Amino acid sequence: MSEPGRVEAPAGVSAEDWRSWSWQMRHRIRSASELAHWVNPIADECEAIEALAERFRFVITPYYASLMDPDDPECPIRRQVVPRGDELRDPVGLADPLDEVEHSPVKNVIRVYPDRIAFCVNNECALYCRFCLRKRMVGDEEWSMQKRELQVGLDWIAATPEIRDVLLTGGDPLVFSDDRLEWILERLRAIPHVELIRLGTRLPVTLPYRVTDELCRMLERHHPIWVNTHFNHPRELTRDAAEACDRLLRAGIPVGNQSVLLKGINDDPQVMKRLNEELVRMRVRPYYCYQAQLLEGTAHFRVPIEEGVDLFRSLRGRTSGFAIPQYVLDTPHGKVPLQHPYARGREGDDYVVEAWNGKLWKEPNPR
Ligand SMILES: *Cc1c(COP(=O)(O)O)cnc(C)c1O
Repeated sequence: MSEPGRVEAPAGVSAEDWRSWSWQMRHRIRSASELAHWVNPIADECEAIEALAERFRFVITPYYASLMDPDDPECPIRRQVVPRGDELRDPVGLADPLDEVEHSPVKNVIRVYPDRIAFCVNNECALYCRFCLRKRMVGDEEWSMQKRELQVGLDWIAATPEIRDVLLTGGDPLVFSDDRLEWILERLRAIPHVELIRLGTRLPVTLPYRVTDELCRMLERHHPIWVNTHFNHPRELTRDAAEACDRLLRAGIPVGNQSVLLKGINDDPQVMKRLNEELVRMRVRPYYCYQAQLLEGTAHFRVPIEEGVDLFRSLRGRTSGFAIPQYVLDTPHGKVPLQHPYARGREGDDYVVEAWNGKLWKEPNPR
């Protein structure tokens, strides 16, 4: 009998296999003919899979594929992971818009702030998002990390006492085995100036069965650990995904969400509101929503920044404050908040502000 909201194994697959993350990884969809087991691909999708094969990997977990609408190519799940011809028609996108390669003191360590770094410990993901910021490296051998290369990064952190906060990202650090991940965490914990370890992972969304009790017990040994995941659409908030987040939360790991503003996927204020309100119900805190970068092959996903500012302005005052992520633009100098100018500035002895409902307020603010 099916339980409400749960993703069921398709016919011919046992529930045990379906919920095994290694089964999911081994049975990933890698071609148009495999995709056709899940949806009715349109010609544009099949041609794009072919045309982009050498440029950016096409891989989807069966779990995530099962969330796709078989008949609607504009399905918000499908558009995130199935290539489209539009990817070949982006006249302005860049390979590395954040100049991350320039900001790498050693391989796969990215430093734009004095006290914290992003450490791309893995170049593999469970699936590949078509709007991936690190398209240039994910799935590409040149950027994979051997143990000795990870050690070079760890040595750099150990030799750089300003670093108090290490964000493990990739690729996806949870694609590693528990043992490989613990090997990294133990070495980071041996560095006295590393206070905080964060994991940036999309696996709670794309392969929630990866978040096993054993993984959570291992992570718990290395607190404080924070996790940021990446839900973009309410349809991704299955009971399976909610349970994965719950397991992390029960291990004492605060879970945040970083989404990307994507045209036709979540750029409707009602969709964005529902996404974040449902995340809050799961006790996942909306953290950032990123402006889609000027990244090659993603013109069809980009929303003009003014529209993004208006969208987040329309949420202010109309939902819980902590259900509103900060809309940010990432730049080579770090993340910049994008926000309607609520603080208008000084008028004589007053400071003028604009409330959520458009009313101006003059707060006495004598010099
Ligand atoms: C996003 C990011 C961080 C973390 O930034 P917070 O605003 O603290 O979440 C650190 N380093 C790099 C390179 C980043 O891109």
